[in-house]
Amino acid sequence: EHVANKIAAGEVVDRPVNVVKELVENALDAGATEVKIEILDGGISLIRVSDNGRGIEPEDLPLAVMRFATSKINNYEDLFKINTYGFRGEALAAISSVSNFNIKSGNFELSVDFGKVGEVTPSSFYDGTIVTVKNIFAKIPARYKFLKSPVSEQKEIVKYVKQIALLNPDKSFKLISNEKILLEFSCNETLISKGKKIFGIDELVEVNYEEDGLRINGLISLPNVQKFRKDNIFIGVNKRVVKDNMIAQSILQAYHRKIPENRYPVASINIEVLPDSVDVNIHPAKMFVRFYNSNRIFKSIFKAVVETLDFSKN
Ligand code: ADP
Ligand code: MG
Repeated sequence: EHVANKIAAGEVVDRPVNVVKELVENALDAGATEVKIEILDGGISLIRVSDNGRGIEPEDLPLAVMRFATSKINNYEDLFKINTYGFRGEALAAISSVSNFNIKSGNFELSVDFGKVGEVTPSSFYDGTIVTVKNIFAKIPARYKFLKSPVSEQKEIVKYVKQIALLNPDKSFKLISNEKILLEFSCNETLISKGKKIFGIDELVEVNYEEDGLRINGLISLPNVQKFRKDNIFIGVNKRVVKDNMIAQSILQAYHRKIPENRYPVASINIEVLPDSVDVNIHPAKMFVRFYNSNRIFKSIFKAVVETLDFSKN
């Protein structure tokens, strides 16, 4: 069991940003509207995610860190009905097997020391859940040596928090690094205002497109503002941060109808599809997804971007 957790850990999490992603997705799955992320040394010394979600009952704390104990998948069909971020029940098991881990909810907490699960003990009341991950990979040299510098790890985390905040504009997010507030997004702030802060560009328009069983939302820069790098195209599927070259290509092709091909937009595009039209279980860290009808998705995104840019001309 211990060994399996540690092997799985390498697939689910190999960098602090993956831990942040799993913990933030858990907070959102729990219905949180406010998520605070604290890190020290780019997350290498400490990652703490606090949320105001529904919390965990004390008797469920040990299950939360046990592999597959909370899996929402009982059969093959269930894989097509996933509408939470988490579904395999392996993230906390993996993370707690490679760190000094603590989870605290309501009046109780549970610590795990590199896979060694402690007892549930009473603790001061917290209305929500706080998960603390310290010294990631410190006892696993083979993994520890692949961590980058605190500065690069922090950079990845900053980028992730920007992406998840843009995909969930109705939630508040705060990122604190070495006790300094790096990012703060309030649920009362519009998507455009968040976009302006994040991309440093005023000429942004909202994308709002809908067709049968499919909704595309987000923002994109107008063609009069042009970037020379294409790493500012953020993509979400059902409000999860994903990487998807097909979607990126679709956005770029729509944008490049009138703009030279060496110029790029900034964009954050979320595509909402029915759970049975996308497979989110093809990658351990859930960074990639597979659409059953990717041709249609490509065309819809292309259309959504073209309509937005044509409509917003000048
Ligand atoms: P999964 O998200 O795939 O179910 P995880 O290992 O990420 O697996 O989490 C295990 C379980 O712990 C979740 O299913 C959930 O019941 C509980 N849990 C984890 N984080 C939180 C949180 N922030 N608030 C409430 N419950 C949580
Ligand atoms: Mg999860």
